[in-house]
Amino acid sequence: MSKNPLKEIGEFGLIEQIQTWFGETVGDLEAIGDDCTVIPRGNQSMELITTDLLIEGTHFLFEKIKPEDLGYKSLAVNLSDIAAMGGRPKSVWVSIGLTNRADLRWLELFFQSMHQLAHEHNVRLMGGDTTKSQQHMVINIMVQGEATPDQVKYRSSARPGDVVFVTAPLGDSGGGLQLLLDDRKDQAGHNEKKLIRSHNRPYPFVNEGIWLGNQTAVHALIDLSDGISSDAGHVANRSGVIIDIELADLPISNALIEASTKHGWDAVNLASSAGEDYVLLGTCDPSSWQSMKKSYSETFHSDMYAVGHVRDRTKNQNRAGSKTAGLTTGGQLQFLKDGKPVDYESHGFDHFRSQTGKA
Ligand code: ADP
Ligand code: MG
Repeated sequence: MSKNPLKEIGEFGLIEQIQTWFGETVGDLEAIGDDCTVIPRGNQSMELITTDLLIEGTHFLFEKIKPEDLGYKSLAVNLSDIAAMGGRPKSVWVSIGLTNRADLRWLELFFQSMHQLAHEHNVRLMGGDTTKSQQHMVINIMVQGEATPDQVKYRSSARPGDVVFVTAPLGDSGGGLQLLLDDRKDQAGHNEKKLIRSHNRPYPFVNEGIWLGNQTAVHALIDLSDGISSDAGHVANRSGVIIDIELADLPISNALIEASTKHGWDAVNLASSAGEDYVLLGTCDPSSWQSMKKSYSETFHSDMYAVGHVRDRTKNQNRAGSKTAGLTTGGQLQFLKDGKPVDYESHGFDHFRSQTGKA
């Protein structure tokens, strides 16, 4: 028996437990388990709701992040969850617990930059809550969005044969975090600054998510908040399929390659397991992949990358569902090296299993 049962069941085991305390079993409830809650509003519209909590010391270090970056990031990570459903964000609620360290100037910079991002996507501030906090600053944001029923993309819709793709290189945010934790910000060169910026100001793929929502060839979609090893595992589990990811195909930016060489990091390890990239991962019909990739690059002047395939799990009955991902209907993520399965331990972020926490 573990001394800490929370550590044993992990973040996702706890979420399953909470549902049973509410009297609902995992299979019964579609509301929980995706990037947003999806509520049908008549026949033509679906409302999307997401909320995320950022706590000083766990998600950010007050001394190491500028208020304008924190304001931007707090909203960006929520917009990313609406994008991960193929929807359009509409409204935001902002709740904050403030310590003495956040003065009026700090708050002005925090809210100005949050407003700038909200304005860019026509998202309106609709309310929130403001309180005092004794020790740690707390930020809770809720975003509401919309989509038509056809546009909504679930984690549970991956189909055997699908191509698995991501919308940008992976691991930059993890590299940026490493630089911040190692106190290398002040000496950072151009490429290292790029990595730090990816960590402090993750780009939310809002327009790209809406575009992907409109593609019938796209089946499943998720945003990579906890790292591909964890989040692609969610898609596999919710869809009841096996997802093979080829490590050699994970896109890695030149900035991360350069910093990895300089600091002795394993870039592939960062790309496969570090969190907070907020890149979209999707699965799509293989016959449409090439044309969709071309049309995406013409629309957004940036690339999508194929990183793996979806396979039927009945052809691999002897493998059990992944223990790490939780909220499971059975399924598994398998990393491949040169086409052969590797035991690549899942390092995706879990709040109760991690020793270090996010920053
Ligand atoms: P994401 O990383 O996309 O923000 P999470 O991993 O935080 O998603 O959450 C997974 C699912 O669990 C979501 O559907 C979320 O609404 C739900 N969830 C998380 N915490 C709780 C909770 N305390 N009570 C009920 N549902 C929760
Ligand atoms: Mg998400």
